[in-house]
Amino acid sequence: MTSGTDILDAVVIGAGWAGLGVSHALTQRGLRHRVLERGRIGETWRTQRWDSFRINTPNSQTVMPGDTYVGPDPDGAMTSGEFVALLEDYAGRHGLPVETGTPVTDLVASDGLYRLALPHGPVWARNVVIASSNQNCPVRPPFSTLLPPEVQQIDASAYRNASGLDRGAVLVVGSAQSGGQIAEDLVQAGRTVFLATGRVGRLPRMYRGRHISVWLVLTGLMDVTRRELLQQGPIPGRALQGALHTISLQSLSAQGVVLLGRLTGVNDGRLSFSDDAEANVRHADEGSARLRSQIDEYIARNGIDAPSAEPDPAEVIDALLPNPPVRSIDLAARGITTVIWCTGFRGDFGWVRVPNLLDEQGQPLYENWFAGVAGVYFAGLPFVISRRSGTILAIKEEAALLADDIQRRLDS
Ligand SMILES: Cc1cc2nc3c(=O)[nH]c(=O)nc-3n(C[C@H](O)[C@H](O)[C@H](O)COP(=O)(O)OP(=O)(O)OC[C@H]3O[C@@H](n4cnc5c(N)ncnc54)[C@H](O)[C@@H]3O)c2cc1C
Repeated sequence: MTSGTDILDAVVIGAGWAGLGVSHALTQRGLRHRVLERGRIGETWRTQRWDSFRINTPNSQTVMPGDTYVGPDPDGAMTSGEFVALLEDYAGRHGLPVETGTPVTDLVASDGLYRLALPHGPVWARNVVIASSNQNCPVRPPFSTLLPPEVQQIDASAYRNASGLDRGAVLVVGSAQSGGQIAEDLVQAGRTVFLATGRVGRLPRMYRGRHISVWLVLTGLMDVTRRELLQQGPIPGRALQGALHTISLQSLSAQGVVLLGRLTGVNDGRLSFSDDAEANVRHADEGSARLRSQIDEYIARNGIDAPSAEPDPAEVIDALLPNPPVRSIDLAARGITTVIWCTGFRGDFGWVRVPNLLDEQGQPLYENWFAGVAGVYFAGLPFVISRRSGTILAIKEEAALLADDIQRRLDS
């Protein structure tokens, strides 16, 4: 570093809701910082969501720190395009120092500072907020490489619509949010769809007059901490949820989706499945019933004037399950030409060369997300503080927490 080098108070990497929320908090505190984005603002929502995608969080909650929803449809669901516009408007309104088309290709610690390599030269900062997400690199099971080459394989993040796929039947692997919504999108486009299900919860969209996300916040269920969640066992993935209506394995099967158990392997063009499709339906039913009774108790306990529960069409019908259960499938015999992997995400942190931040798989060490390494923070990680973390509902509190700590460091 040469003398007179401009040392920033902080650098934020990534201009999604997490990075912009932190930048807003840093701006409010008058801290000199830059937001470095390799693509455009909201890049992930522009390039990793399918055409019919809608945000699952209702409009009333899809707000950035300092903003309140004042529109006519609080329970409505934004398209990803509308959400990108919201993020761009927010960055513009608050004059956030976002530099798009600026990938950070290396991050190292040096003499108590951090050096970030950019295409047009290094940047130095006292603090770094990594808001590049661990939800934007798709993950496939290792045996995906054993599928016959003629079978088209795409990830949920690359799916756009049915007409973009090869003709023929489709196998969707994974029945959480993405898998359930994509399977419905395909069957409603007239495709033959097979769905490899998993042990995933389900959220009804509305219950007793309110959006389920509103009840999750009111009841405090969104604030169940990471520690409390871990005491119950491994933290489950996000539940199956529909943005415009409830989606259940039952409702998918009623539309013609063939429900299969968990995909366990591939051998010579044949796929093998567990015999747990029925158990997966039951698991989702029990999860939804448990949540509805927790909300009923909350309503009764607080004397809230809420309409009585109405049966949700997607939750009261029986699942149509293959009988006998399908334990293996010959892709060619079933006319399956495409497999869509809805099997989770990780993040790309290959450019992070600061010790004690990443685990052996190159993913954030959760115990170090908050200044575990002095001056480095992660923003936007799922389940890092509570169930709310990793959703837009978390950024207001998280951004303030990070910005206050950065201020404290700078003042010390
Ligand atoms: C299918 C799907 C649906 C979801 N739906 C919802 C929902 O309805 N409501 C909700 O609250 N949450 C939802 N989430 C969870 C979460 O909101 C998203 O994962 C969201 O994208 C996380 O926001 P973020 O700002 O942390 O990350 P991102 O939006 O992914 O932003 C990270 C940014 O960092 C940039 N970047 C990455 N590496 C670098 C680098 N080296 N240099 C510079 N820039 C870099 C990327 O280009 C990207 O723009 C959903 C997630 C998925 C996968």
